[in-house]
Amino acid sequence: MMFRKAPIISILSIVILFLFINVKTYAQKYWQQRVDYQINVKLDDIKHELHGDIIITYHNNSNSALSEIWMHLWPNAYKNDKTAFAIQQLENLSRSFHYADESKRGYIDSLNFSIKGQKLLVLESENFPDIAKLILPETLLPGDSVIISTPFKVKLPNSFSRLGHVNTSYQITQWYPKPAVFDASGWHPIPYLDQGEFYSEFGNYDVKITLPENYVVGASGELQNTSELEFLERLSDSTKKIKSFSELDTFPASSTRLKTLHYVQNNIHDFAWFADKRFHVLSSEVTLPETKRKVKTYVMFTNKYAKYWIDASKYINDAVYYYSLWIGEYPYNYCTAVDGALSAGAGMEYPMVTVIGEMSDAKTLDQVITHEVGHNWFYGILGSNEREFGWMDEGVNSFYENRYMKLKYSDGFMIHKDNRNIFTKFLGLQYFPFGYEQYLTQQLSASAGKAQAINTHSEEFTYLNYATIMYTKTSLVLKYLEEYLGVEKFDSVMHTYYKEWKFKHPQPADIQSLFERETGQKLDWFFKDILNSKKDIDFKISEIKKVNNQLQVKISNNSNIAGPVLVSAIDKNNKPLESYKTQAFYESTYVYFDSLKAKKIVVDPEYIIPESNRNNNAIRLHGPLKKMEPLKLQLLGGLNRPDRTNLYLSPAVGYNTADGTLAGLALYNNFFPFKKLEWTILPMYGFKSERMNGAAQVVHHMYPERVAEIETKFSMYSFSDMNKQNELYGLNVYNRFFKTSIGSEITLKPVSARSRIANKLSYRFVFTQESTEYNYRDTTVGIDFAAETPNYYHQFKYTRTNNRAINANSFMMMYEYANNYNSSISETHHKLFAVFKQKINYNNSKKAIQLRAFAGTIFANNSRTNASNFFSLSGNNDYTYDKAFFDRYNLNRNQMHELDGAFKANTFMPTLRQMIGLNIKAPFTSRFPIGVFADAAFSNERQSMKGSNFDFDFGVYLPVITDVVEVYFPIVYEQRLYSTDSYREVIRFMIDFQLLQPQNLKRSLQLF
Ligand SMILES: [Zn+2]
Repeated sequence: MMFRKAPIISILSIVILFLFINVKTYAQKYWQQRVDYQINVKLDDIKHELHGDIIITYHNNSNSALSEIWMHLWPNAYKNDKTAFAIQQLENLSRSFHYADESKRGYIDSLNFSIKGQKLLVLESENFPDIAKLILPETLLPGDSVIISTPFKVKLPNSFSRLGHVNTSYQITQWYPKPAVFDASGWHPIPYLDQGEFYSEFGNYDVKITLPENYVVGASGELQNTSELEFLERLSDSTKKIKSFSELDTFPASSTRLKTLHYVQNNIHDFAWFADKRFHVLSSEVTLPETKRKVKTYVMFTNKYAKYWIDASKYINDAVYYYSLWIGEYPYNYCTAVDGALSAGAGMEYPMVTVIGEMSDAKTLDQVITHEVGHNWFYGILGSNEREFGWMDEGVNSFYENRYMKLKYSDGFMIHKDNRNIFTKFLGLQYFPFGYEQYLTQQLSASAGKAQAINTHSEEFTYLNYATIMYTKTSLVLKYLEEYLGVEKFDSVMHTYYKEWKFKHPQPADIQSLFERETGQKLDWFFKDILNSKKDIDFKISEIKKVNNQLQVKISNNSNIAGPVLVSAIDKNNKPLESYKTQAFYESTYVYFDSLKAKKIVVDPEYIIPESNRNNNAIRLHGPLKKMEPLKLQLLGGLNRPDRTNLYLSPAVGYNTADGTLAGLALYNNFFPFKKLEWTILPMYGFKSERMNGAAQVVHHMYPERVAEIETKFSMYSFSDMNKQNELYGLNVYNRFFKTSIGSEITLKPVSARSRIANKLSYRFVFTQESTEYNYRDTTVGIDFAAETPNYYHQFKYTRTNNRAINANSFMMMYEYANNYNSSISETHHKLFAVFKQKINYNNSKKAIQLRAFAGTIFANNSRTNASNFFSLSGNNDYTYDKAFFDRYNLNRNQMHELDGAFKANTFMPTLRQMIGLNIKAPFTSRFPIGVFADAAFSNERQSMKGSNFDFDFGVYLPVITDVVEVYFPIVYEQRLYSTDSYREVIRFMIDFQLLQPQNLKRSLQLF
């Protein structure tokens, strides 16, 4: 490929020039604090406690005199359900810690901080029990140091996050009292969190761990005991001899003899250790690429995933080697990976030791080990502030992890040939280049309007975006930067970054200025625009003209994010003839090609840029519909291929009593990533009615800045609802409804991206029409039933949902104005109703007591209104045809939906003007889905046989799938209006097909 700079018509260069002049250079000299530790700790593996003492030497290298030191007491994160960790767990929809009992929680206590025997005043943070402030008896002057000591006891929690134990498998992390970072912007006391990692001061560690002799320990630091080093070698030798690993994973008894392991290490900022009596060990070593120094590596694992871990020495060695090659050499002498009981992600990094959770296959193990080992560089050595700028470690590290995976496993495609199965073929993954799955994962929230900027505080990311944006999108845009600078330049800059910032705290501005200094280019388009904008990147070819025997191609930038692009002229074999790389530009730029014979011109032909819309990236030079991609028809679904106009096709079957069995074909334009405009057409043929019916829908989404989303929906829907023998004339009478609606729903901007509260306002216009006619026309009888009854409804709705992990609730209020034209009468009505739902959770399961309150009133000019408040919604009183029913005509209807009064007993109660009701469903804690329900309501104008205006029922129900498929068995219920002897008619069931539809799956996805 050849590169040539394209002429640029952009005001950007002027802007850049202006910015350049104004860049201030910060003359302040860099400094950082140092904290040295001496820790003596003993593991009590009966009580699951740590008993120890710690001596902290705090060196004040700042320019400020310090009168206090902020301390982290992170085991206290597990103290109760009010800690920042506990609250975040619930926000991320994990209930296990919230409902964990006291004995499973953990804490640190028995602290007694002192300096030279003088007890220190400790001020505990009001909101965070895992943060405290030590008041120094004398101010600590710049350049001075102070020695602080304390005993401590840690009660180890069960494994809820990182610190914890599962039986006698110990994950000892974030476990000792630790000063917070003090840097140029002040103190950084941070409560422990699952989502949002660490920021720590570098220093020297000297740690002694006492525990029963038969534990195998993987830890940060260099092990000093020769006997223990020999013990590990013996274990490694015996592990190598194992032909097949046992299926058993039982814990051996602890030996009564104790051992004390001694670890020493300079220049690390944390110390973690993992102890397990079951560990197999494999030791190995790797020679570093530049200095040829040897690094000793260990992998430690239990029987459970031994089949994957057996090759793990290769993975850890490769990771140490390649990261050393690409960034700078590993500075320590040991590196260990352990198989541990981790409850926070697939793996977790600590200096020189990483812990890996449950694994599905060897390749994933390689990937996770590499990622975690890679954190030695981006976290361990380059100690950025991960809590605030997570992309600097997770994102940059993911970029190198991807480079490693591509090197080891890719054949250029996203799914390696050997791994292609029916599912990946169905999705069409084989058409996409390596790394495209990363593009897709970050599109999850982007295509649903829920994106956040890469440079977002870790705590502010949604659970989904924390992974898909902070890790994945960062990795993608770094690939973009690498492509723009060239791999060689990029690597040399990263080597310089490593050299200048190792064992320091680089900030985002530091990495930008270093990149700009080393490349001699202003890189605001990357460090300012791309990292700080949540907007999608989108380039497009807007025009091609022949000018002076050249092709003049206009490239437009549809976003406010400037960036450089590669533009190629492609021949008929899809090979690039000529390629140009532009400078970063806003608005538009021009590129000139000599290849007049090219088949098409393509922007970003190698899928380097994480663009939101790739369908506008190519224009063909010949033939009709130059901008339209060739059609691709696919069965069921698959990923939207950017180089095709995607259409999907799916067979559909259905049933209702009037149409009989329905068979049809759904045609739709969208699967994944989500498009702004989605449409579906579903024609269906009823074998009993012998009619064509069906549905069609067009949905458009907008995500303007001021509100979260505007969704506009147009739908049409028509099915039969009666098909029966007319007794009088002996004819087959056929009834069918037609419904169309159009409306918009505005989702108001939430208080924060993580908020689970959604406020929505909507307006909808609904038109329905019933048409009655003969199924066939008998001229001898000549009676015309073809009366058409059009109805119009205007609905204004407000909903507020709070979808929190426990005790979720929702409120809905609707006003409806209607015009109904029956054949002889016309009526208008005003209906106002509200529904409040409250869940009450009582344990870790999803099960919850559901309370529901309903109130409705209607004013109509005619008593024959069809829009009353109902005890329960059945097929024939769903007057706006919003729900799917098997039967809309017969009275013996067992199917219901939880609308209006939501009575479960089939009372056949008629129309009501005012009604207020309460429903309760209480599932039992049993594994089998069963529970009790009760409904009660007051109403007026009730034509009941009892004369009271209070009704109730009670019974047992089976929530097969809660709120989607449920069956109700009333036990106590009112005497029914149309009583029969059959209990079968009293039983009701609910199937809410709407909740099973793809667009609702998308909504549930957005909850994360
Ligand atoms: Zn990571």
